[in-house]
Amino acid sequence: MLIIGSHVSFGTKQILGALEEALSYKATTFMFYTGAPTNTIRKSINNEMTIKAQEVMLENNIDIKNVVCHAPYIVNLGSKKDPDKYKFSIDFIRNELKRCDEMGITKMVLHPGNAIGISKEEGLNNIVEALNLILDGTTNCQILLETMAGKGTECGCTTDELKYIIDKIEKKEQIGVCIDTCHIFDGGYDITDFNGYLSEFDEKIGVDKIGCVHVNDSKNTLGSHKDRHANIGIGNIGFDTLINIIYHEKLEKVSKILETPYIGDTDDSKERLYPPYKYEIEMIRKKEFNSNFLNDIREEYKKY
Ligand code: FE
Ligand code: FE
Ligand code: ZN
Repeated sequence: MLIIGSHVSFGTKQILGALEEALSYKATTFMFYTGAPTNTIRKSINNEMTIKAQEVMLENNIDIKNVVCHAPYIVNLGSKKDPDKYKFSIDFIRNELKRCDEMGITKMVLHPGNAIGISKEEGLNNIVEALNLILDGTTNCQILLETMAGKGTECGCTTDELKYIIDKIEKKEQIGVCIDTCHIFDGGYDITDFNGYLSEFDEKIGVDKIGCVHVNDSKNTLGSHKDRHANIGIGNIGFDTLINIIYHEKLEKVSKILETPYIGDTDDSKERLYPPYKYEIEMIRKKEFNSNFLNDIREEYKKY
């Protein structure tokens, strides 16, 4: 079975709301932030919503082990310049893992961190130190380090950088990787030869460490280090290359998550944004690109 979904919102119904949104896209998995990705305000996990969500997942054949959480991207484990902020980031991630445990979520994606005003190596060392404090064996949930595009001071934008971190983690079973197709492409990996990428990854880190794939096309060119996601088949990676990755036999059991942009429409003078996921999932299932899908989305949502 194809394990595909998108990022969805957590909202007031928490994981139940996220699940309902995912089901409306005919997804078989999903990813959510446990609050706004841009802030660290978090509500406590609602037990009733969680139990109900687990029931609905069972009814719909969604395995909670394939569901992924994403840590907010404003925490930074890469810099110790402000020691309070570094400590806050560590405590926050540790708390997020506990919240995942409460919901039965086993995987949390994390942007490794930024080396602000220091060398890459120092940044990577700060990340290692923080992760070894966070992953102390008291939580069940695994951290998946996301491959980054190499924008600014980002750490973790090459397979070697991720290997550097993972090699130094004490609790190896608690660490893995989330491959983002837009990020590795913008980072300079020519993924038209995805077998080549994967065999290098396997040699250095091990394909079994891949816990999630973020499926995004890219608005920019190979090696641009920009990180701007495009809708499936509309960007510079292209539909066929993405299909090749999604259906790669070595990634069969790995969750594929779309983080593509909403579709804008200003037709009736009001700016509206529509989620593309139901359509993108359908194209991926059929392995067939519909060159008119952005317009189809606008037409459908206009009815409501
Ligand atoms: Fe991310
Ligand atoms: Fe991503
Ligand atoms: Zn990105």
